[in-house]
Amino acid sequence: MTANGHPSFVDAPWADAFVHLADHCIACITCSAMDEEGTNLGLLCAEGERLNKEFRQARRA
Ligand SMILES: [Zn+2]
Repeated sequence: MTANGHPSFVDAPWADAFVHLADHCIACITCSAMDEEGTNLGLLCAEGERLNKEFRQARRA
């Protein structure tokens, strides 16, 4: 817990990878694709898949 309003995960070693993934998914039409109900379809383009893999590897490290 931090008092400055930032979630505590920003200090985690995988935070960089998470931010890269999140930034990409927000900007990418494929990765942010939703159905009519607003549920993310979970589609990943090649870049999204690479970032997702990096994120998971970083979390395991
Ligand atoms: Zn993408």
